[in-house]
Amino acid sequence: MLDELYQDIILDHYRHPRGRGELEPPKITQEGFNPSCGDEVILDLRVQDGRIQEVRFHGRGCSISQASASMMTEAVKGKTLEEARALIQQVLALVKGETEGDIVTLGDIVALAGVRNFPVRVKCATLAWHTLEEALKQAETGSPTV
Ligand code: ZN
Repeated sequence: MLDELYQDIILDHYRHPRGRGELEPPKITQEGFNPSCGDEVILDLRVQDGRIQEVRFHGRGCSISQASASMMTEAVKGKTLEEARALIQQVLALVKGETEGDIVTLGDIVALAGVRNFPVRVKCATLAWHTLEEALKQAETGSPTV
């Protein structure tokens, strides 16, 4: 029952992705790749005054990888870099089955917990979040924006 609900949420994000597209420069671009499944997520971020003003993604891959990216863009827009980093840790712990997660604050993201019993799919679900982690490092070091 719960698994079906999770699946519905994931398919909804896959079919109607939020935050899909690219940003105009100046922006931070970070590519992520999951070789075990062939998933690709390219993130565009605009960070101003320590806050994520805009975020978009594009790429291709399985429904879990793309739905996860969709949920991620929705969740981190408007967040400070610290808040985004805290959220990444929360989501990674949830997906790996280390916590039950906070249903209230995570919203649709809790659906990703459905993959915790499938180690191969964990990489699909975490791809967008690891990619965001790398993008945030770029934002902090102020390294070249494209
Ligand atoms: Zn995948």
